[in-house]
Amino acid sequence: MRRFRKAKIVATLGPSSSSPQMISSLFSAGVDVFRLNFSHGSHELHQQTVDIIRTLEKKVDRPIGILMDLQGPKLRIGTFANPYVTLKPKSLFRLDRDAVPGDETRVAFPHPELYSCLEQGTDLLLDDGKLRLRVLSWGDDFINTEVIIGGALSDRKGVNVPGVILPISSMTTKDRMDLAFGLEQGADWVALSFVQHPRDILEAQGLIKGKAKIIAKLEKPMAIQYLQEIIDLADGVMVARGDLGVEMAPEDVPSIQKRIIRQCREAGKPVIVATQMLDSMISNPSPTRAEASDVATAIYDGVDAVMLSAESASGKYPVEAVSMMNRIITRVEQDDTYTQMLEAARPQPHPKVADAITTAARHVAHTLNIAAIVTFTDSGATTLRAARERPDVPIIAATPTLTTARRLSLVWGVHPVLTPDIHSFTEMVNKGCQIASDQQFAKQEELIIVIAGVPFAVAGGTNILRIAKIEAFQRRTKT
Ligand code: PGA
Ligand code: MN
Repeated sequence: MRRFRKAKIVATLGPSSSSPQMISSLFSAGVDVFRLNFSHGSHELHQQTVDIIRTLEKKVDRPIGILMDLQGPKLRIGTFANPYVTLKPKSLFRLDRDAVPGDETRVAFPHPELYSCLEQGTDLLLDDGKLRLRVLSWGDDFINTEVIIGGALSDRKGVNVPGVILPISSMTTKDRMDLAFGLEQGADWVALSFVQHPRDILEAQGLIKGKAKIIAKLEKPMAIQYLQEIIDLADGVMVARGDLGVEMAPEDVPSIQKRIIRQCREAGKPVIVATQMLDSMISNPSPTRAEASDVATAIYDGVDAVMLSAESASGKYPVEAVSMMNRIITRVEQDDTYTQMLEAARPQPHPKVADAITTAARHVAHTLNIAAIVTFTDSGATTLRAARERPDVPIIAATPTLTTARRLSLVWGVHPVLTPDIHSFTEMVNKGCQIASDQQFAKQEELIIVIAGVPFAVAGGTNILRIAKIEAFQRRTKT
């Protein structure tokens, strides 16, 4: 089973997509990585989902990535006595630490950390930015505000405070418990929400201890200020446009998205564009023109993966949304403009052996008629460098490490295959040809490129490039 596109699809699972049949249909429609959103659902439910994915993985005999997304320190108001209140512009509204249900004049806001870092004129944005409150005065346990933009407000809505650095870690007590559980379940990627500072990544690394790779979700203006440092420390990033678009002006988000994608490509780290990509498909079987264009734009920019949230988790058309993404990606990747744009944005190779080899692999692939580049890898590092080149041909990652295979399912152009370690040059060539042929990337007489490190079975030593022809005897042999 192979896919005929380079960019990947991440789909969030939820009430609309919890059954084995639905998860299997989503995979068939094109999902490469499933996202479990720990803002919702019990551990029991997530465990069932992991079991379903791992059973499916065995059945289809393809490595499937699991991304666990931690809720992070999302600020929320408390509850109201009535189902909702309506806040009128110019009226006064108080947030305090009193747990009693709120009304038109006040509501609980149980986040003492925030009280100490307010400034006169700070705006609090409520319910994804729909309401705006301006801070007039505050004390140890209250904040008095004026309603600037009013509207209906109901229980536990989220609060964003643009421009303020919160003196809190990006991991709450709940996140730590969720993380321990998720790592036990074998999550391949952990996404950290509301990262503000590079030290948030270091803190997470200390807890994860290499058991999973880390995605930094960029959804705070502060994270954009530390963008390069965060990219350098994390294993990948997500352009989390839902919260980013509330914390920053909407007109700022497109250029920031492009900048993040460019810097991630330079670093050779996977980048996901997320949120509202096909939003109207939550309730409609087809997207708006603007949404189709949004997905296409991310692909033209060379992103590794595009993501579905509510569309696949709680919408009415989860499979249709995945199929639509699959079609848009496939279409863009056939466009000459796409190839030209990737070419124009190609970063310089670093003066390292792995980059010399992967750059050479792209040159050879474009000079000869090459069917695939097979990278033998343990950690996945060489494959990431090969993907950074954005070659015109598929990259097969042959790895003896299951977690590496699963993680690489997120990466642009990479088709991961689990295979035992190789021990000799002949074995490397034969196995490379066998895998390319068995996985339907190359036919008899076609050429492939094999890259690996000698001595074999020693990590980090990519140093050879071999051009090999698929011979008759190599077809359809079990690897
Ligand atoms: P969320 O993150 O869905 O967990 O909020 C993505 C975003 O903010 O865009
Ligand atoms: Mn978010």
